[in-house]
Amino acid sequence: MPRSPYRALPSVDRVCAELRARSVDAADSVLLDLTREALAEARARIGAGGEAPTLDAIAGDVTARVDAVRLPPLRPLINATGVILHTNLGRAPLAGEAIAAMAAVSRGYSNLEFDITSGRRGTRHSTLAPLLRRVTGAEAAMAVNNNASAVLLALAALAAGREVVLSRGELVEIGGGFRIPDVMRQSRARLVEAGTTNRTRIEDFEAAIGPRTAALMRVHASNFRITGFTESAPLDGLATLARRRGVLLIDDIGSGCLLDTAAYGLAPEPTPQRSVAAGADVVLFSGDKLLGGPQAGLIVGRNELIARMQRHPLARAVRLDKASIAGLAATLRLYIDGVAEQRVPVWRMIAMPVAEIERRAGAVVAALGAAAQVVDGRSMVGGGSLPEESLPTRLVVLAPVRSAATLAGRLRASDVVARIEDGRVLLDLRTVDPLDDGRVIDACAALVRPQ
Ligand SMILES: *Cc1c(COP(=O)(O)O)cnc(C)c1O
Repeated sequence: MPRSPYRALPSVDRVCAELRARSVDAADSVLLDLTREALAEARARIGAGGEAPTLDAIAGDVTARVDAVRLPPLRPLINATGVILHTNLGRAPLAGEAIAAMAAVSRGYSNLEFDITSGRRGTRHSTLAPLLRRVTGAEAAMAVNNNASAVLLALAALAAGREVVLSRGELVEIGGGFRIPDVMRQSRARLVEAGTTNRTRIEDFEAAIGPRTAALMRVHASNFRITGFTESAPLDGLATLARRRGVLLIDDIGSGCLLDTAAYGLAPEPTPQRSVAAGADVVLFSGDKLLGGPQAGLIVGRNELIARMQRHPLARAVRLDKASIAGLAATLRLYIDGVAEQRVPVWRMIAMPVAEIERRAGAVVAALGAAAQVVDGRSMVGGGSLPEESLPTRLVVLAPVRSAATLAGRLRASDVVARIEDGRVLLDLRTVDPLDDGRVIDACAALVRPQ
């Protein structure tokens, strides 16, 4: 009688010993689990009429499983899409100063919540507040996990159980299911709509104010534009109305743009400085959009309002970690030092002259020969900022030796994300660190040159 193929399978111990002999590195429990998985699948294959795999084959199978488990799930990519703030690719790349500060504070202990002078307990809010006050002109400031948290905390702390008046044109979805009316419900503030989708005037806000109104709110239409027959209430007018009627004005400007986008031929983006100067009581914005720092939500505004938000139980749930605080502080320092355009990658990319991009694109094309050429194109700011704005750029177009989807897929396998437009693969070096140009060339060369 032939021996059962199941009996030919090596034992778990035998496979684990073999893996140790081959120096496959993983915790004992992980090796054991993966070996059991591999053997269970081998038994299932035998049950389906297959042969018993050899010890060598099983060990190879488990080694591949160990490698798959150990692969870093998050890995660096080269963004050649030309979208500067690409939310799917992690938004703002950080300045070297920010990275160094984050590493330094992560390595050991810090004065995160410790007053060095008195030796007593301090607060994590005191680190960023002076810098945020300086760059925005606000009385007080705090930072939370992201701008979505900032909106939730502001509404919960300042308007729960009361009404918040918002223009019908600003009942927006920011993306990823973050819808202002839903967040409003979560905060237990009651939304009162004012005006119409395309036109909302100061009088519409005034008519919507009642005895239960806590605040007027403005939400920047970050990622879309309503054009044509439109009108919106100016912020300073809303501030005057809010003061006269004894309610607050909350301004969610989305991107934390601290510099003037018009200097680069882009439409003006709201800045926290302007909102504070116009009289908004609380201004909310992201740390990782045009500010160019780590993920964070920044809240600046009047002293007693910031204090109320800091005391609210949600503040603890959405607090920012020490590495992000250090990275943000270092990024804000670059604005205070007046070197943001040169040092903050997002602004360096916005400010990069077309001639410089043309020169780099030319070098890529020269390395690729007939397989590529340089054409005119546009780079986008992205990240829910300036949706209809773009910057002139020069693109590398790859010759269509295969379908665009195939080429772009092969580039992604080399960690380069390109753009597909009209069936062509395009690379925009504006969003590529110049130090990575060589890697872009290598990735392209490997697939456009017929072997
Ligand atoms: C991007 C954005 C948000 C959400 O900010 P995150 O930092 O991504 O949480 C909220 N409001 C507006 C207007 C935005 O543009």
